[in-house]
Amino acid sequence: MPKIIIVGGGIAGLAAAVHLKAGAKAHDKTVDVLVLERNQRIGGKILTEKIGDYLVEGGPDSFLPEKVWTVNLARHLGLEPEMLPSNDKFKGTFIYSRKRLHSLPEGVMLMVPTSFWPMAKSSLISWPGKLRMGMEMFMPRRRERGDESLASFVTRRLGRECLEKIAEPLVAGIHTSNPDNMSVLATFPRFVQMEQKSGSLIRGMVDAMKSRPHATLSGPPPKPGQARMTYFMSFKKGMETLPQACADAIGKDSIRLGAVVKSIEPKGKGYVVILDSGEKLDADHVMFASSAYDSAEMIKNFDPGLASQLRAIQWSSSGTVTLAFKRNDVSVPLKGFGFIIPRVENRRINATTYSSIKWSYRAPDDMVMVRVFVGGGHHEELVHELDDAGIISMALEELDTVLGLKADAQFSKVYRWFNGMPKYTVGHLDRMFLLDRKVAEHPGIHLIGCSYKGIGIGDCVHEAQIAAEKILKA
Ligand SMILES: Cc1cc2nc3c(=O)[nH]c(=O)nc-3n(C[C@H](O)[C@H](O)[C@H](O)COP(=O)(O)OP(=O)(O)OC[C@H]3O[C@@H](n4cnc5c(N)ncnc54)[C@H](O)[C@@H]3O)c2cc1C
Repeated sequence: MPKIIIVGGGIAGLAAAVHLKAGAKAHDKTVDVLVLERNQRIGGKILTEKIGDYLVEGGPDSFLPEKVWTVNLARHLGLEPEMLPSNDKFKGTFIYSRKRLHSLPEGVMLMVPTSFWPMAKSSLISWPGKLRMGMEMFMPRRRERGDESLASFVTRRLGRECLEKIAEPLVAGIHTSNPDNMSVLATFPRFVQMEQKSGSLIRGMVDAMKSRPHATLSGPPPKPGQARMTYFMSFKKGMETLPQACADAIGKDSIRLGAVVKSIEPKGKGYVVILDSGEKLDADHVMFASSAYDSAEMIKNFDPGLASQLRAIQWSSSGTVTLAFKRNDVSVPLKGFGFIIPRVENRRINATTYSSIKWSYRAPDDMVMVRVFVGGGHHEELVHELDDAGIISMALEELDTVLGLKADAQFSKVYRWFNGMPKYTVGHLDRMFLLDRKVAEHPGIHLIGCSYKGIGIGDCVHEAQIAAEKILKA
């Protein structure tokens, strides 16, 4: 019976363990899986807290059902009745520009306009900017092969104004990255394929929507017994429902909390995993589901070259500030699911989600709960420098500036994610290719998680399942 040790009880490590156990069972085999998590809780960055009457998300607040692996995992775990669609009757995104909020024109898919009239009527983009975006259909394809920054790609195809007002806050914002050095190939390969295949993003996106009738934000109608899918999905009791259900499926005996892995050493055809307590555990396979810089620390004595490749991945720090106000104190309209702020506006926050409007079950009916994002692509220093009181008062000042919201917060909670998001900078895919080659020198070592091939929960689940499948086949 192969012994598999998984380092890290975030969603990647847990999804791998679930897949290994379920896969082995399906083939009437057994595997010995042990998840080692240094913290006293599982879930990693997926962290939900019930504080009084509030359900607060510290990290992700949703998953994208478009990345089917999360939905499939949730269904496998029996979570169908727990899945929660967003309250789409309120949906909409607003962008702060020239001291006011503008609606993101309908039909803009990530950054590509697909409808003429909403774009023509939009107050967000100037007329020269709109014309430049329309000219995208006549822009030549890029001749050179290889990677390019998101900023260069968008400016070349859709113009500078689209980069600054739409792509940077919306697209780079997802990655909490700076578009000037963010790899378009690693983050949005679909756009590069569209340019090469259709010669135009607008044409490519319109064709994609025609060939996939449900590529709209509302998605296909649910089958009987299935949850209704919206573009963003969550769980009634919050995102941590997913890692908790994984942990239940894996079983208590296969998870050790407070187990800090210090290093690994080769032993025969396998490895010995050494904990900081001095305890040594033998394994045939070791899956590192920890962030690349943590994995580098554990691997550095075993393979210094691999460790330095892992350290080459850069990270950004960000924070979330959840605030709740009495509904009667909120005298300004809160439209849509929230707003995003382009970097060029030089504000101290990046975005705000109206959590209790976007989701049900988050706050009492007489309260409004919002979540403000700080750091990431810009003003990252605030996450390090401000204490909780400072970050809360800064967020309140910014909400006053952007929305004119002057209410007192009745509840607040700050979470900080130091080096919480990997930055896929230009050349990331080439570095991942070399990393894969280096890892292949050590059969039985596997790298999974958000550091490598996708930051979203769906990507982490998918990569974990691929690695688990490889072990099952071996
Ligand atoms: C603020 C924020 C908002 C986000 N929003 C979204 C969203 O809405 N939707 C979405 O899809 N994604 C979102 N993401 C991204 C997503 O949450 C993460 O990419 C994903 O959860 C990472 O999972 P992981 O398993 O790779 O890593 P992690 O969750 O970081 O898990 C790694 C685990 O390894 C453990 N570990 C590390 N070193 C050791 C060691 N030496 N010994 C033992 N254990 C160790 C850690 O303690 C940790 O628990 C967001 C991220 C952040 C920070």
